[in-house]
Order: sequence, then C-alpha cells, then structure tokens
Amino acid sequence: VTSALALVSSAAAFAARRHVGQTRKGVAREPYLNHLAEVAFLLATTSESPEAELVASGWLHDTVEDTKTSREELAETFGERVAAIVMECTDDKSLPKDERKRLQVVETPHKSDDAKRVKLADKTSNLRDIASSPPDGWSVERCLAYVDWAQEVAASCRGLSSALDQAFDDAVADVRRAIAARGGSAAQEV
Ligand code: ZN
Repeated sequence: VTSALALVSSAAAFAARRHVGQTRKGVAREPYLNHLAEVAFLLATTSESPEAELVASGWLHDTVEDTKTSREELAETFGERVAAIVMECTDDKSLPKDERKRLQVVETPHKSDDAKRVKLADKTSNLRDIASSPPDGWSVERCLAYVDWAQEVAASCRGLSSALDQAFDDAVADVRRAIAARGGSAAQEV
C-alpha cells in the first residue's frame, strides 16, 4: 500500500470484509461497520494533522479482537505502526469480561498516544450508540455503569487532541441526558 489515501481506503475495505454480517449490540442492529466508520472519521477530523496510519487503525481497531485477523497479517498489509496500534486496542478475550474491563482502566495509562486516541474515539462512538440505540435489555443502571467505566478509561487518554476530548465530553453529556430521559419515563410508568 503506497499512498495515504490508498492505505485508509484499503483498511476500510479490509474491515468491511472481515466484519461482514456483524452488527452492533443496539436495538437498531446497525452494521458493525458503522462503528468503525465513526471511529475513523473521529480520528480524521480531530487531529491537527491527520495521519493515514491513525485513521486506518480506526477502521481496523476491532479486527483482531472480533474477527479472524492476526497481528502478522495487519503488519504485512498495513505496516508495523498500524499493527501495533490495533494490538494495543485488543482485549484478551480469554479473560472474563469484568477482568477485561478492569485491565482497560489499569493498562490504558501506559499505552502509546496513538492507541489512546483510538481508544478515546472508540469510547466516544460507543457512548453515542448507547444514547441513540441502547443495547437490547440494558437497564438504566447498566447503561450508567458503562458510562462511568468509559469515563474512567478515557481519563488517561485525554490531552492529545482538544477536539477529540470535546467530542468525548459531548458524547458523555448526551448519553447521560438520554439515560436520564429513559429512567424518567420508566419511573413514570411504575
Ligand atoms: Zn470499537
């Protein structure tokens, strides 16, 4: 892959093929690709000098965790930097979910600036999804606990891009409003 545009475009195409058939957890069952497109767009629009490898990593950040993709394959196709960023954003799926979430809080402060940007864009996208299309069956409490946890992880990712920090803060405010509105209507029904 030679040019910056080719790198980003081929990352998008690669992610589209690997995540084919996957959907988001939300009730709207959006294609998983929508999440990747949002993360890549956030990375492209919140950096002062957007870098193709960072944006490509946005497209690819869930390929190792959620599809049959190896680090070696990413390194061969997209280069060492992209492969390294994606691996930093990959949870060890052999661990229980709670332990993975705890490790994200503990380990994120020690990650590279590249990985912190991808993680902050990822959390921003996840919060926007919970605001617009909450996962099926998630209670108000579970949504709130997710927002609290996302803020904990995000705390160590801040300060690299004020625009990205702002996008995250806006997403937190919006999702808390949306959850409060849902909680309010649920309370009224009782
Ligand atoms: Zn993601």
